[in-house]
Amino acid sequence: MPLFDFHTHTTISDGHAAPLVMARRCLENGYGAYVCSDHVDEASVERRVPEIVAACREVERELDLPAIPAVEVTRVAPERVAVVAARARSLGALLVVVHGETLGDFPQPGLNLAAARCPDVDILGHPGLISHEAAEAARENGIHLEISAAGLHGLTNGHVAKVAVSLGAHLVLDSDAHRPEALLTAQRAQSLLEGSGLELEAALRVAESAPLRILARRGIVISQGATS
Ligand SMILES: [Zn+2]
Ligand SMILES: [Zn+2]
Repeated sequence: MPLFDFHTHTTISDGHAAPLVMARRCLENGYGAYVCSDHVDEASVERRVPEIVAACREVERELDLPAIPAVEVTRVAPERVAVVAARARSLGALLVVVHGETLGDFPQPGLNLAAARCPDVDILGHPGLISHEAAEAARENGIHLEISAAGLHGLTNGHVAKVAVSLGAHLVLDSDAHRPEALLTAQRAQSLLEGSGLELEAALRVAESAPLRILARRGIVISQGATS
């Protein structure tokens, strides 16, 4: 089973490496696809999504690795999340992550719930001290809650896992990598999932089922060297 990771950044936003450099490391680490999900907000969505789409095409030309254009909707007011998510999708983003109410940042109250209620959202990124109400909305809408490999964003991984397991919401592990060294390996992915408090079986289910469910929900088919 290849690795999947739906949350990575590049120099298109605040990452430290170009998309091709990130994608090369993904290939080395055994990823099944490269997902470029740079930050977008109301001001940058128009410009950045076409850059992300072009970068993914370049990766597919250069490497034997499918590349999926995505976004992380970041620092957008809760009532505008749906507008920006829909705009990103119409510009070519196949997957939408929302920068949730992480303790590693200044959380915007109401953001988790707004994202969890938005059908254009795929992953509620690093959702901090997520409420039962938001987790239930995510479950109802098929939105995955993120276990984060990224520093302070991962402070509440235990809480996120506990709430998701108790309410039957789906989890996914992402790197939120801003540099190649921070991308996942199979061993690190397993350790992070167990470290979030998941039993071995549940950790394996997250690692294996979540990516397939996320891709299938949008009808994204991974075939060698191309996504459609
Ligand atoms: Zn974020
Ligand atoms: Zn991020």
